[in-house]
This record gives sequence, structure tokens and C-alpha cells, in this order.
Amino acid sequence: MPPPSDRHIEVLVIGAGMSGMAAAADLAGAGKQVRVVDKGRDLGGRMASRRIGEAVFDHGAQFITARSERFCEITRECGNQGTLQEWCRGFSPGAMGNPRWRGVPDMTALPKHLARGIEVCLEKRVESIRCESESWHVTLEGGASIRADAIILTPPIPQSMALLDSGNFQMPPDLKSRLSASSYECCLAVLAVLDGPSGLSSPGGMAFEEGPVSWLADNQLKGISPIPCLTIHASPEFSQQHWDADREEVAALLLRAIKPWVRSNVIDFQVHGWRYSKPTQVESEPCMVMNTHPPLVMAGDAFAGPKVEGAACSGWAAAAVLLDKLLPS
Ligand SMILES: Cc1cc2nc3c(=O)[nH]c(=O)nc-3n(C[C@H](O)[C@H](O)[C@H](O)COP(=O)(O)OP(=O)(O)OC[C@H]3O[C@@H](n4cnc5c(N)ncnc54)[C@H](O)[C@@H]3O)c2cc1C
Repeated sequence: MPPPSDRHIEVLVIGAGMSGMAAAADLAGAGKQVRVVDKGRDLGGRMASRRIGEAVFDHGAQFITARSERFCEITRECGNQGTLQEWCRGFSPGAMGNPRWRGVPDMTALPKHLARGIEVCLEKRVESIRCESESWHVTLEGGASIRADAIILTPPIPQSMALLDSGNFQMPPDLKSRLSASSYECCLAVLAVLDGPSGLSSPGGMAFEEGPVSWLADNQLKGISPIPCLTIHASPEFSQQHWDADREEVAALLLRAIKPWVRSNVIDFQVHGWRYSKPTQVESEPCMVMNTHPPLVMAGDAFAGPKVEGAACSGWAAAAVLLDKLLPS
């Protein structure tokens, strides 16, 4: 039997973030043969979590909100099953807004819930996509290749465009220049382990309107870490200005900025840079059909809103267009 990477599959989903997993779950549910590949070590994309010793951090998306009917339904369902738990209803004292959900045990729980029964191949970076005799020929880092009847492409748009360029994919010049101009805010994040309680008040999240820090969360108060530890997100302006700076210096600046709110000492930390944190504009359609024969659809939060919910809705839209119009039934 050929190695898995050489088999021909019906739909290849590139990216195991929320949009990719939402698309894959619907396609698998409709009986399609689906494989998901991702360059990361874990699935979830920007819904990432990390550990430093005993400390557990959500270091990308911090919480999930739901507005649309289907996404409300999935949060309720996952809430009942224990995959999600209500964190709070807002971060100011006594806030009673819409639920802010957190994943159990961390934010990767929701994409992992969608991944049940689906073939997800991690640490597989796609290097190029080429259209060849009515199917897609996808080359992975290291040289392995996959043939697929259809592709859903979910990385942030600049990364998806680079993959399309690698196979010399032709598209109308106005579309190419529009997609090539898409931009994202970056975000520098510091994950800091404390030697005692942070001193933040419950529920443990603080958003800042100005200054170098935009978000500060205590992962122990949030309920995901057994020991006190903080996720600090720098503001888009600070992140842009300091993107190429020494990461130790970045951490020193951000740790100094949060000192007035934090009672204990930082005993360990890591810095992470989200190059494509948030799209600065959102396309008008929830996904984009780039090619019909063979089908290739682009999806992700830049198509249906820069949040976990937008990513899920985009993935579902991409699966629906494949199932309803582009794949043989
Ligand atoms: C710091 C931060 C804070 C946030 N806070 C919130 C929040 O509180 N609430 C909220 O709703 N949203 C939040 N978001 C936004 C939310 O995380 C995203 O909107 C959502 O997770 C995007 O999902 P996606 O599937 O579209 O993209 P991604 O999660 O980026 O998934 C794309 C996947 O493609 C993979 N990939 C890329 N290139 C390749 C390649 N060549 N080969 C293979 N795989 C590849 C990546 O590894 C990644 O896993 C936050 C985001 C960040 C970064």
C-alpha cells in the first residue's frame, strides 16, 4: 500500500485552524473523503495553547463569542458536552453581556472536537499547489506529495497567495492585486509564569484601550492553569513597531507595562509573535471559489469576520459550496 501522502484523496483541507476543521467536519459528515494538513505541531492555528512547566496558557484567541444561529448551537452543544465552558459575561465588574466561552482544557478543545474521526496530519507544511490533469498536486516540505480532487485553502490570505503563486496559478489581475493587498495586524504575546497569585480580579481578563498592552489574562483565574500565569498581548501599534526588536527587550517592556496590575513576580516567560493576528479588512463573501475544475476554495477569518466564529462560518461556507456545486454528489 502506498504511504498515506501518496494516496489520492477527494478533498484536501490546508490548515487545521477553526475554518479548516469546520470545513473538514461538514465534508466528512457528508461522506466525503477528507484529509487536513497543517504545518503546526498541534491543531487549532490561532486558537493555540502552550505549556511552560505546569503553567497552561491560551496564547492566541482568548475566548469565543457566538451570534449566528449555527455557531450559537455549536457553543451550546459543546457547553453541554464539557468541551466549552462559560468563562464570564464580560470583563468589567458585574458585567452581564453575552457569554464568553473558553475551551476545556484550553482553546484548542473546539477545533479538536471537530477533528474527531478526521485524518489530520500535523507538522506537514505545504510548499506548493499545482493544477495537473484535472486534479491538484500538492507538495509537502520534504518532498512528499498528495493528489486531491479539491482543495480548501485556509491559511491567512498572504500565505495562501504564496501557495497559489508557487504553482503559477492564474487569476484575474484585479482579484490578484486585491488579495495581494490584504493586510493583517500582528501581535506580540508574552506568556509569563508567576511565583504567586496575580492579584487581578475575577474573571481574570483585562482589555486596555491605550498603551503598549491590549490584553492581560490570568490563566489560573480563567480556570485553565493549575498555577498563576499571564497571557499578555501587545497592542497592534506596539507589535508593529517592535516586530523586529529583540524579543527579550520586547518582554521587558511589556512586563514593565503590566506591573501596576500584577502583585507577584515573573519567574519564567516566553515571547511569541503572531505575524497574521487579525485581518484589517474582511472580504464580502464568506469564502472565495478560486477555481471550479478542479475546485479550489479559499476560506478563513478574512472572509467571514476576524474571530473564531467568523472562521467557523467561513469553513462551513466553503464546505457547502463544494458539496452543493463543485463536487459530484
Ligand atoms: C493574539 C490573538 C488573539 C485573538 N483573540 C480572539 C478572541 O479572543 N476571540 C476570537 O473569537 N478570536 C480571537 N482571535 C482570532 C481567532 O483566533 C481567529 O480569527 C481564528 O482562530 C482564525 O482561524 P482560521 O482557521 O481562519 O486561521 P488559522 O487559525 O490561522 O488557521 C490557519 C492554519 O493554516 C496553517 N498553515 C498556514 N500555512 C500553511 C502551510 N503552508 N502548510 C500547512 N499549513 C499551513 C497554520 O498553521 C494554521 O493552523 C485572536 C487571534 C490572535 C492571533
